[in-house]
This record gives sequence, C-alpha cells and structure tokens, in this order.
Amino acid sequence: MRKITADFIFTPSGHLAKDKVLVTDDLGRIVSLEDIAEHERSSIEKYTGIICPGFINAHCHLELSHMLGKVDTGTSLLPFLQSVVQFRDISKAEILDAIATQDQYMYEQGIVAVGDISNQTDTFQTKKESYIRYYTFVEMFDFLFPGMTEAEFEKYKKVFDGLEENEKDDFRAVPHAPYTVTPELFQKINQLNKPEGTISIHNQETPEENLLFEKKAGNFPSFFEGFKIPFDHFKATGQRSIHYALKHMDAKQKTLFVHNTTCIPSDIQAAHDWSQQVYWATCPNANLFIENKLPNYQYFLDANAKMCIGTDSLTSNWQLCILEEMKTIQKLQSYISLETLLTWATINGANALGFEDTLGSFEQGKKPGIINISNCENLKLTGQSEVTRII
Ligand SMILES: [Zn+2]
Repeated sequence: MRKITADFIFTPSGHLAKDKVLVTDDLGRIVSLEDIAEHERSSIEKYTGIICPGFINAHCHLELSHMLGKVDTGTSLLPFLQSVVQFRDISKAEILDAIATQDQYMYEQGIVAVGDISNQTDTFQTKKESYIRYYTFVEMFDFLFPGMTEAEFEKYKKVFDGLEENEKDDFRAVPHAPYTVTPELFQKINQLNKPEGTISIHNQETPEENLLFEKKAGNFPSFFEGFKIPFDHFKATGQRSIHYALKHMDAKQKTLFVHNTTCIPSDIQAAHDWSQQVYWATCPNANLFIENKLPNYQYFLDANAKMCIGTDSLTSNWQLCILEEMKTIQKLQSYISLETLLTWATINGANALGFEDTLGSFEQGKKPGIINISNCENLKLTGQSEVTRII
C-alpha cells in the first residue's frame, strides 16, 4: 500500500484539491482519496505541485514517428499533405525503431492510453508489448473517387484483419476525413465495424475543407488533380464539411472529431444534435505547426462539448507529449483553467476511447497511472512545468 500527497490532487469531480491523500494498493489500483488529517504524516509520500491520473493521448499516428523534423512548418494543410505523401527514403528498421522509441517516450511523459491511427501494420508489435493501452483506428480513404473505393478498402481491410487476430477489441475501421472518403467507403466502414466502439475522423482542419463542400472551390480540386485523381464527378453539397461526415457516419458509435480548427458553433451544434456520444480532440501544436491557427475553444466550452487532447504525429509536432499540448493551450487561450485542461487530458479522453473502466480518474478500483506535474505557478502551467511518473 502507498499513500501519496502533493500540494494539489486532481479529484474525480474535476477539482484540484488541497490536503488530500491518495491511497493505492501495491499494484497501483486506487483504494481511496481521503483527507490528509486522517493519516500519520510520516506514512505519506509528499510531492510538490500537482498529482493527477495518467494522460490520455486521444489522437496520434505512432507509425509516423520517423518523420520528426522532416516536413516544414507553416505551409498550410494541402502543401503539408503533399510533402508527407512524397516522403519515402527510410528503412523499415528505422521506422520500427522510431515507433518503439516514441512509445517509450509517451510512457515517460505520463501517457497511459493512446487513440492511434494506423494505415499500416508497422506499430502493431510495439502496441502489443507496450505499457500503454492503445485504441487503434485503422484509417481508410479513397480520395473521394468511387473508382478507387473497392481497391483501397481491400488494402486497408488487410491492416484491419491483422488486428482481428488479437483477442482485444480496442480497434475500429475509420474514415480519414470528409475530403478523402466517398459515401460508398463510409458505408463499407460502417458495415465492417462491430457496434459500441469509437470512430475517429479528421475534421475541419483547414478552411479549404469547407470551401470544397460548400462551393467546390479552394485548393482541393487542384490538389486531387496534382495526384492525377479524377475530380469532375464531385458535386458540392452546399453545406460545411461536417454535415457530409454526419450524413454518412454511424451515430450509434462514439465519434471523435479531430482538429476542429475552423469549427463554428453551428457545426458543434449539428454534431450534438446528431449524437449524444460526440467527442472533440484538439491537437494544438499540430494546428500551429501546419496552419498556425488554433480552434476557438470558447465555442466548445459554450456548447458543453466533451473535449480531449491529442498530439497528432511527429510529422506535425515536435514531441508526443500531452503536457506540452496543455501548455500551448494555456499560453494562447489562458481563460481555460488548469482544472478544465486536466479534465480534457484525463477522464474525457478515457471516456472517448471507452477506457474509463480502468483509466482517467482517481476512482476506487481504477488503475489510472499516477503522475506528478511540477513547476506550476498559481495553478497555471509554466514553460518549465514538467511531468514525472509516480506509478
Ligand atoms: Zn491526424
């Protein structure tokens, strides 16, 4: 048994409480959260700063870990995607090595679970052996071209089948983004998935996405032509892009919209009207890296949206660290309290991935990981704030 305290402990009700002690069993399972006055001081481990449950990284592409420093910042999404697609020239051994290194790094940064996108099987062995719990999203796309749907689906179905051989059920097939998935492919994805899981989709990461669906305008048509993918057949829907996703996704699954940089209140409302089980993952450092813009978080707070935090990949980030994402949000939109950010980074992510049975909060019986955030000032993160694992 261990008794652990700090200046503040993040409670299951979402508060940073003083004068509490966290009691765990030898395996790190939570026994209770009690008033410190009830305990002999000498029996308690004391940390400075904050103690909170392990972080949930709601959106990552672990398989792109070898891409660190390979792509320019600030180019906007379409040139960014072009450079990612054109990047080859790296050996399988280097790719696998980078995956294992970053899995370990995330663990050290207090991350206990990851919602991870896979287009290939490269990460599967690392994930199987990891201390981190993974939810794998096998991502599919056909560049909005029906002539490619069948072949692309079969290609990614092989990746999906690679996971079905494992006994765990923490995976689903998912659409990449509204601008890369035909209605036919959405339908195939829906049919492939078992019910009661989580589906993710990249959403409204760039203003071009809405221009495409509203007016068939912006840079997407020439982007597709650049890849020699026919685009004449595409007709604008006249609505913002999220409506296309809502029309074709399965409202009975939990849905994790990722990025949401250009979301406005009516987009959020439309998704909430569509399903009660909608989550919103923000990846602020990736948004700054690619488009140099953050979502307006006030819109999401006003709508009581269930927010989570992701790192995205090392193609568009400097590190896979949830604390660094929280620092960025607090620096640029400082009206968001640390308690709110911790809620996003822990229990909301756990709920989004269906991992709340064991992770996300200091509730009795859970084994959520216990981490210490030091170097905070007046309940704000600073540039020097650091995370260390206690359990
Ligand atoms: Zn992503």
